[in-house]
Amino acid sequence: VNEFALIERFFRRAPRDAAVRLGIGDDAAIVAPTPGFEIALSVDMLVEGRHFLAGTDPERLGHKALAVNLSDMAAMGATPRFALLAGALPASDDAWLDAFMRGFRALAERHGTELVGGDTTRGPRNLCVTIVGEVPAGAAITRGGARPGDDVYVSGSLGDAALALAALDGRTKLDRDALDAARERLERPLPRVELGMRLRGVATAAIDVSDGLVGDLGHVVERSGAGAALDVGALPTSSALAAKLDGNERALALQCALAGGDDYELCFCAPPDARATIARLASALVLPLTRIGAITAERALVVRDENGAPLRALPRAYDHFAP
Ligand code: ADP
Ligand code: MG
Repeated sequence: VNEFALIERFFRRAPRDAAVRLGIGDDAAIVAPTPGFEIALSVDMLVEGRHFLAGTDPERLGHKALAVNLSDMAAMGATPRFALLAGALPASDDAWLDAFMRGFRALAERHGTELVGGDTTRGPRNLCVTIVGEVPAGAAITRGGARPGDDVYVSGSLGDAALALAALDGRTKLDRDALDAARERLERPLPRVELGMRLRGVATAAIDVSDGLVGDLGHVVERSGAGAALDVGALPTSSALAAKLDGNERALALQCALAGGDDYELCFCAPPDARATIARLASALVLPLTRIGAITAERALVVRDENGAPLRALPRAYDHFAP
């Protein structure tokens, strides 16, 4: 099949959202912005051999390619609306594309996000999704709004994606069920889109945990001109990871929980008078929202162990250009 047949077959669909005036098939898509809203834009690239392994299940990859972008919208408190998909593919493999788009579309539909365009080319496998969201004017939640005295929260649980990678690499062992659960977190992350939208007007700052908590919260405190103190004992983890934190694999477990990437939870800050609101939000969403520490005036990130003693060396977040 040629490029245009491929586009017709796998990407073009009748627009569902009335805001899409012109979808796939012209030189550009045309969408109608919601009056009173601002546009949130983000793009993320997944490169084979770098972000995923050759042979990764294409349906999971389609899910993940969109999930990482939805997570960025969540972190801004934005409502995801439209997506563009640029893909380089080594060959036009129908079964692969079909599965990839199944994963992509299932998640897109769940969050009311519509694919409105993209680009398709031959090359080493590389998937790049651009996402367009909306947020009421002035209501975006940035990294820079945290204030000393704010509580620091994280949604869901931390470290399972990294734990799955460690188990798959043979650096640790997990029983069958624990490995399946951790792998699900690694390969099918659930972006906290609803949480992000509901944190508008509640959170003072937010970030999605994609590179690891210490590094990502580090961005928040740096932008906010503040610091933070976190408690290891407060970190929400799966029971499999909690067992390793208490046992002789503590170093690995700390690395997973504090610096493991790919969790796609939200880390956010809010003043103490928002505690009741946040507790109600957690029950409404059936999603744990755990207070893990506080923002401090002193510009340092301190992580305390279960006895209150600061960890001397903090695990490092993933950095593609680390020396
Ligand atoms: P142009 O050459 O003008 O950039 P293309 O031939 O690349 O146009 O694309 C034709 C149409 O198909 C455009 O609307 C484009 O957005 C859409 N399209 C191409 N590839 C993809 C893709 N991978 N996903 C979604 N839409 C795509
Ligand atoms: Mg093009």
